[in-house]
Amino acid sequence: MIEEKKPAFSRSWDPACLGKSRVSRPSRLFVLYSFTMEDGKIMERTLSIVKPDGVARGLVGEVIKRFETNEMKIVALKMIHMTKAQAQGFYEVHEERPFFGSLIDFMTSGPAVAMVLEGDHVIAKNRELMGETDCRKAAEGTIRRDFATDIEKNVVHGSDSPETAEFEISYFFNKFEIVA
Ligand code: UDP
Ligand code: MG
Repeated sequence: MIEEKKPAFSRSWDPACLGKSRVSRPSRLFVLYSFTMEDGKIMERTLSIVKPDGVARGLVGEVIKRFETNEMKIVALKMIHMTKAQAQGFYEVHEERPFFGSLIDFMTSGPAVAMVLEGDHVIAKNRELMGETDCRKAAEGTIRRDFATDIEKNVVHGSDSPETAEFEISYFFNKFEIVA
């Protein structure tokens, strides 16, 4: 008999469970790359966060304007203020990095704005618009080059691959909160 394995990929921002336990990443095996073809375009979704520094400095409108003027459609949006456990789960891949503790303190230091963006090749496009992690290396005209104050306080987060996008979107949004 073949044992059916249940995909681990069904977690969303459930207030009942968050804050109590860490949310773990799904096994790579079960992650599907979801996109749709529309007029030859590869329509994807990605997670964007205006980080606590961006919200505190009144940059939410500026960031959203850049998305909306670049054919990136907002299909979900909410304000969040992450607990340590939520931030640790979200940035689990960086757990061993020396900056992890400081990053968690920063990401839990105040409210942030989480969004799902939809558009043609939106995952890569958002990364391009954001610029490199280190604002000193980010290209002219990118969000991080224009507004980040250091490598940590770099205003925005964006998923870096289709599988990361799947995980990160479901971390904050359930399917009823995404309005296509
Ligand atoms: N970060 C940091 N120091 C580093 C690298 C990263 O403080 O040397 C922070 C920064 O806020 C970054 C986040 O950790 O945005 C996640 O790092 P990642 O390498 O995933 O960069 P991103 O995908 O955000 O460009
Ligand atoms: Mg990253």
